[in-house]
Amino acid sequence: MDGAHPTARSLLSDIFGFDAFRPLQEEIVASVTRGEDVLAILPTGGGKSLCYQLPALLRPGLTVVISPLIALMRDQVRALREAGVAAAALTSGNTQDETDAVYAGLAQGSLKVLYMAPERLATGGTDRLLAQAGVTLLAVDEAHCVSQWGHDFRPDYLRIGALRRALDVPLAAFTATADSETRAEITARLFDGAAPCTFLGGFDRPNIHLAFAPKSKPREQILTFASARKDQSGIVYCGTRAKTETLAKALNDHGLQAAAYHAGMEPDTRREVERRFQTEDGLIVVATVAFGMGIDKPDIRWVAHADLPKSIEAYYQEVGRAGRDGEPAETLTLYGADDIRFRRMQIDESPSPPERRLADHGRLNALLGLAEAQDCRRRKLLAYFEDDEAACGNCDLCAAPPETFDGTEAVMKALSAILRTGESFGVGHLTDVLTGTRTEKVSARGHDRLPTFGVGQDIDRREWAAIFRQMMGHDLVRPDPERHGGLRMTQAARPILKGEQTISLRRDTITSGTRRSAPKALVSDEDAPLLSALKARRRALAEAQRAPAYVIFPDRTLIEMAEKRPATLDQMSHISGVGAKKLERYGQTFLEVINGDAAEVPDHPARRKLAGRAAGEVYDRLLAAQARLNRGADGTGKPMSCSASLLARIAALGPGAGEQLDRLLGDRLAERFGTAFAEILEDG
Ligand code: ADP
Ligand code: ZN
Repeated sequence: MDGAHPTARSLLSDIFGFDAFRPLQEEIVASVTRGEDVLAILPTGGGKSLCYQLPALLRPGLTVVISPLIALMRDQVRALREAGVAAAALTSGNTQDETDAVYAGLAQGSLKVLYMAPERLATGGTDRLLAQAGVTLLAVDEAHCVSQWGHDFRPDYLRIGALRRALDVPLAAFTATADSETRAEITARLFDGAAPCTFLGGFDRPNIHLAFAPKSKPREQILTFASARKDQSGIVYCGTRAKTETLAKALNDHGLQAAAYHAGMEPDTRREVERRFQTEDGLIVVATVAFGMGIDKPDIRWVAHADLPKSIEAYYQEVGRAGRDGEPAETLTLYGADDIRFRRMQIDESPSPPERRLADHGRLNALLGLAEAQDCRRRKLLAYFEDDEAACGNCDLCAAPPETFDGTEAVMKALSAILRTGESFGVGHLTDVLTGTRTEKVSARGHDRLPTFGVGQDIDRREWAAIFRQMMGHDLVRPDPERHGGLRMTQAARPILKGEQTISLRRDTITSGTRRSAPKALVSDEDAPLLSALKARRRALAEAQRAPAYVIFPDRTLIEMAEKRPATLDQMSHISGVGAKKLERYGQTFLEVINGDAAEVPDHPARRKLAGRAAGEVYDRLLAAQARLNRGADGTGKPMSCSASLLARIAALGPGAGEQLDRLLGDRLAERFGTAFAEILEDG
């Protein structure tokens, strides 16, 4: 630390190891540090924790943090301690020893940050305990839990207002939920109606790639997407409990690591899945929306929807669980006519009052508009949340704008078929009528004598299916729950039917299936093996402490290590995320991985395939040699390495490979590694 008076910036780099604030963090930190009442609304991943942790260090006395998530509290306490901050938690999950230690810390005045579950506020004595502990700041995480109308309501949050009054200290509240009703409730209940300094961050999550695809072979679509992202943590959301289990099994059968999760499972089993997801490095959780708020893993690399979510809000929240660490993350949302029907019926059949159902249809429509969008999805999504238009370039439609066509005539034909058959039939029968297919049902109802019979022969059945789906997506037709889901025309379709309005439809969703999107690599091919070695070391350290990997170092830090390859502790200290404490604790061991003083067994899939075979051992020796020669024999050359798959191919060559080895390596790599590798192969 420089000088006697640490500043927000010096602590940011010394304690947290970050070199820049995220948007609004600096302003919020300043305001909270000055002792103002603050309400900060930042998107998930915006870095809210830092906004109270840093002021806690800048202010005298103790900061109490109320948070509803026990697992999260534990991780944060761990991370703070790793960074050298005196932090502790009081939760129902504590052992007696832990609780005693907290009390001792409070009595000595040695604690800086105390996390508390809201339930603690209800137990007698807590107020008195805090009153004597020299609390100078209250921070409330997930402040929307105070809203009685939200999904996450926690009755104990209602006690926070009284605690603030009793302690008479400033309060800083944080949430990602920004609608004005929730905001008003937070102000009323936490701040006694006196408006706090409010900071409202944007909604955009630019690192999250957005993509939708109509279902063609949904299981294959998910398997393909997940397989391409093997070894990355991801979530697949499903519409039903049964599907979470079958899909998890399918993923496992495909050689991926997957676990199902839904509210019907035993609490213990659920907790075990949560724990594994939090600590393991490449688990896929296949879940219903029950896998939600408690999930605070910052390095979830992808989220897929095997079924359409129920609203645009749900969509935003679910995809938003990916990439909280700011690194690239990907999403894929599948949808089809059945999903639309299912979601509509669900709303129609819910017990909510009519106004509520109307609003729910509106939220579903907004999501369908996003699914059937013809240009940038991010702009559409943000427009819904009334966020300023942001630059995108990170969605499937920006990458490849869809082909569109004037669908007015086709839609008019379909509407006419719907009206003439009495608005009582589904897509299958309507398509029979339009394409002039004389089924039994068509003949029995006399629909082959309708003027619309066969008027749509120029369009094939698959295309009709896509047209009907888009008509549902534009809310021109809706399934009628009173008529077994038969399609009815809505008011929105009238102008088209009357020829007053045209409609443009997407062609690509009709002809091509899912466009193949290549997964985003976090680092170049050259750095990939080192990154997996660094991750393996991180996992070993995390497992030894029974902590999530990111508590040791976030992905970004390892990526930077792999790219910059620091050779000394001094260089290591310039890597973002390496604060003073972490440098002391872990600097050496990661330097060894990078500079090859220890042979590291990477967890790369190419290596795993060789596990237990002679080639596996050869592979490891090749890797060690490569690490040794990373900067050449004299240690001054440009860092060079081979990809894991190349090493695996070399390991399989066996003795006497000679020329073949040189061919595989190419000139540049052969010059650096050829001799060493050939020797290893000879005695392999
Ligand atoms: P939120 O609670 O707003 O969803 P968190 O406080 O959990 O977000 O932060 C998300 C991730 O971003 C964490 O891994 C955190 O360490 C990281 N982070 C926070 N602030 C910064 C920063 N200024 N620079 C780099 N990483 C940051
Ligand atoms: Zn876009």
